[in-house]
Amino acid sequence: MKKIIIIGGGISGLATAWLLRSKAQAAGKELQITLLEKEERPGGKIRSIQADGYTCEWGPNGFLDSKPQTLDLCRALGVESNLHRSNDNARKRFIYSGGELHQLPDGAPTFLTSRLISWPGKLRLALEPTPFISSAPAGVDETLAAFGRRRLGGEALDKLIAPMVSGIFAGDPETMSLISCFPRIAELEREYGGLIRAMIMLGKKKKKDIADGKVVSSAAGPGGVLTSFREGIQYLSDALTTSLGGIVKTGITVTSVQKGAESPYQVTCSDGTCYEADQVVMASPAFAAAEMLAGLDSGISAVLRQIPYASMTVICFGYRREQIKCSLDGFGYLIPKKEGRNTLGTLWDSSMFENRAAENKVLLRSMMGGACFPGYITLTDDEVVARVRQDLKMTMGIDSAPEFVRVFRHPQAIPQYTVGHGARLQKLEELLKGHQGLILTGNSYRGIGLNDCVAAAERAADEALLCA
Ligand SMILES: Cc1cc2nc3c(=O)[nH]c(=O)nc-3n(C[C@H](O)[C@H](O)[C@H](O)COP(=O)(O)OP(=O)(O)OC[C@H]3O[C@@H](n4cnc5c(N)ncnc54)[C@H](O)[C@@H]3O)c2cc1C
Repeated sequence: MKKIIIIGGGISGLATAWLLRSKAQAAGKELQITLLEKEERPGGKIRSIQADGYTCEWGPNGFLDSKPQTLDLCRALGVESNLHRSNDNARKRFIYSGGELHQLPDGAPTFLTSRLISWPGKLRLALEPTPFISSAPAGVDETLAAFGRRRLGGEALDKLIAPMVSGIFAGDPETMSLISCFPRIAELEREYGGLIRAMIMLGKKKKKDIADGKVVSSAAGPGGVLTSFREGIQYLSDALTTSLGGIVKTGITVTSVQKGAESPYQVTCSDGTCYEADQVVMASPAFAAAEMLAGLDSGISAVLRQIPYASMTVICFGYRREQIKCSLDGFGYLIPKKEGRNTLGTLWDSSMFENRAAENKVLLRSMMGGACFPGYITLTDDEVVARVRQDLKMTMGIDSAPEFVRVFRHPQAIPQYTVGHGARLQKLEELLKGHQGLILTGNSYRGIGLNDCVAAAERAADEALLCA
C-alpha cells in the first residue's frame, strides 16, 4: 500500500487529505494517508473563538459562494445544511475618505452621484474603454499600481484598488503582481480590451443566459455571498478533522523531508520520529516548506524563501448596541493608505452574521498592519487598542470603550504575490520534476482565498492519486 504524508493541517492539508481519501476510495485504490500538523489544533489560519457571547474569527470569516470549490466540499462532507450565508447587509461596502464613509457605487447612477471620486477622477475613469488608454505592456509582469494608474487613473488606484488589495491580501499595490493576484482581471483586459467593456459584454451575456433559461450563479454580486457556519468557519476544519479521524496527527513538527533509504522519502519530526513515504504533499506555508526541504533540494528551498509574507493584527471589539450611533447596515469599510489612519479597515461582523454577537450587542473586527505597515505587528495590546479606538472615533464616531476586546496577531499572515511570483512558480515546477511524488499546495502559490486553497487541494489530491 502506497504511503502518502501530508504536512500541514490548515484548510489546504485537511482538504487534500479528505479529497485524496475519497478519490482513492472511488478508484478502488488503497492508500495509507497521514497528515502531520505542528499545532495541537488543526485548522491553521482558521479559528473561531466563542467568548462572552461573541464569536470572533481569528483569521478568515467565511468564503464566497460565487466559486464552487468550498461549497462542493461542504456538500460532499455532509455539512451543507449547516451553512450560514451572510445577510443582505453584507452587500453594502464602504470606503472611508475625506472624513466620511462612502458606499461603494454598484452601478453607473450611484457612481455618478457618489462623492468618493472627484469629477476629474470620474472623467479619467470614463476614459477607460477608449483608445486613449494604453493596453497591457507585452511580456511585463505589471504591478497592480501600474495597472490601476494606466487603466483607471491615480485617484481610482488610491481609493478603489489599493483598499481592495489591502482588504484581500493585506498587500501593497506597488509591489503586487496583477497577473498573479487577479489573473481574471488581466484576462478580461486581454479578451475585451478593457474592464468597462468586459462588464458590459458579460452583463449582456448574463441577460441572454437568463432569457435562454440557463442556470446563472445565485451570487448576489460579482464577488458572491460571504458564507460561513452558525458556529463560525472553524466548523469546516473541525468537520474535516473529525471525518479524517486517525489520519490527522497533531502536535508534530516536521523538521525535514529527505530522500529515504527504503522509500522515496523520509519525513523527520522534531521528536525524532521518522515516517517513510512514497509521496509527500507540502501543505505548509512556503517559508516552512523551505526549511523542511533545505536538505533535499536547496534550489527549491531558495525559491520558496523568496515568497514574502505580510503580517496582520486582527482586533475584535464588542459593544452594547446603544454605544453605537451610526448605521451598521453593511459589510464594513476599508481605508485608503493616503488617509493616514492606523487601521486597514473594519468589518461589521455582527451585521453580516447576526449571531456573531448576542442580542443588542455589536461585534466589530478591525485589521491593522499588512505589507504597507509592517511595524504594527510589534505594538503592544494597549497601543493597538488605543489606535483602533482613535480610528473608530474618526470613522464611525464611536467615543466609548468597548466592553469586549480581543487582539490576534499573525506575524506571517498572508503570502504576497509580488512581481516575479509567476516566474517563481514556473521555476518551482521545473525543479519539482526532479522529485516525483513531491507536491506543493496551500495558499502560497495560486490564490489565498479558502476557495483557492480547496481548488489547489483538489489538484494536489488528483496528482497524488495519479502517482499512487
Ligand atoms: C486575518 C486573515 C483573514 C482572512 N480572511 C479570509 C476570508 O475572509 N476569506 C477567505 O477566503 N480567506 C481569508 N484569509 C485567507 C485564508 O484564511 C488562508 O489563505 C487559508 O486559511 C490558508 O490555509 P492553508 O492551509 O494554505 O495555510 P495555513 O492555514 O497557514 O495552514 C498551514 C499549516 O501548516 C502547519 N505547519 C507549518 N509548519 C509545519 C511543520 N514544520 N510541520 C507540521 N505542520 C506545519 C501550520 O501549523 C498550519 O496549521 C484570511 C487570512 C488571514 C490571515
